[in-house]
Amino acid sequence: AIWNLGSINIDMVYALPHMPEPGETLAATSFDQGLGGKGANMSVAAARAGAHACHIGAVGPQGTWTVDRLTEYGVDTRHIARIEAPTGHAIIAVDPAGENQIILFPGANRALTEAQVGQALSAANAGDILLLQNETNMQAEAARIGRQLGLRVAYAAAPFDSDAVQAVLPDLDLLFLNEIEAAQLEQATGTLPQNMGVKDVIVTLGAKGARHYDGQTGVVTDVPALKVVPVDTTGAGDTFTGYVLAALDRGMPMVQAMGLASRAGALMVTRHGAADVIPDLKEVQNAKF
Ligand code: ADP
Repeated sequence: AIWNLGSINIDMVYALPHMPEPGETLAATSFDQGLGGKGANMSVAAARAGAHACHIGAVGPQGTWTVDRLTEYGVDTRHIARIEAPTGHAIIAVDPAGENQIILFPGANRALTEAQVGQALSAANAGDILLLQNETNMQAEAARIGRQLGLRVAYAAAPFDSDAVQAVLPDLDLLFLNEIEAAQLEQATGTLPQNMGVKDVIVTLGAKGARHYDGQTGVVTDVPALKVVPVDTTGAGDTFTGYVLAALDRGMPMVQAMGLASRAGALMVTRHGAADVIPDLKEVQNAKF
C-alpha cells in the first residue's frame, strides 16, 4: 500500500477579462471548482494506477465533497480527519492569455497532528511506501515514524522549501525533484541531490523526460518523455510521482516504473485540470503516442 501524507485543496478557478488592479472590483466571466492539492493529485494518481492508496490528511467543514471525490477515484479516505479549520483552497485567477495568479490558503492541510499521523501509520505494513510533499505540516515527524516502521519513505520536494527537505533527508529512501527543485536543493546545500545519501533520486525534466540516479551503484538512467502537444502542464509531476510509486509498490523495477509514469505524465499535459483528469492504468497502457 501507499500511505500519502498530503494536501487536499479546493481549486476555485475564475476567468477574468484582465488581472485585477489594486482597489479594483472585477466580475469573473466564468467559475470552475475542482479537486486539487499536490497530495490529493498524487493519491488519485496512485489509486488510478492500481495501488491501494491511503490518504492521510485533514479537511474542514466545506471539504466533504473533496473526500467524496477522492473516494470515487479509488483513494482510501479513512485517515482523512474532519476538523474545524477551513479546508485548504486555492483561488486561481486566469486572464485571457492564460496567465494565472494564485492565492493559496493551506488551512486544514497544516493542522495535522503527530498523533493522527502515528495512528494512521500504525495500520501500515513494513515494506509499504510512505509519501510526503510540502503542502502539509508533520513531514519530518512522519518520515521518522515511517522509517521506524520499516516503510520505504518517498518525498516530493514541492513546493520547494530548503529547511523542509533537509529535515526529512536523513529518513528518505526515494527523492523526487523537478529540474528547478534539483537546482534549488543543490544551491541550498552545495551538494548534488544524487550525492545526499538517498537510495533513489528521480529528477523530472518536463518535455525532456526524467532521470534516475541510483545512490548505491551511481548508475544514471534517462527515461525519455513522449511526444505530445502540451495544453496544460498542471499535475504532470504529481501524476508521474503517483504512477512511479504505484508501480514500485507492485514490484516493478524502477526504470520500467518510470517508463509507465512518463506515459501517464504525457497524457496529463494534453488535458486541462488536475486530479479530476488523471488517467487510469488501462488508458495509460493503451495510449498511442
Ligand atoms: P513538474 O510538473 O513537477 O514540474 P515535470 O514538468 O518535470 O514535473 O513533468 C513530470 C513528467 O511528466 C516528466 O518527467 C515527463 O515524463 C512528463 N511530462 C511533463 N511535461 C511533458 C511534455 N511537455 N511532454 C511530454 N511529457 C511531459
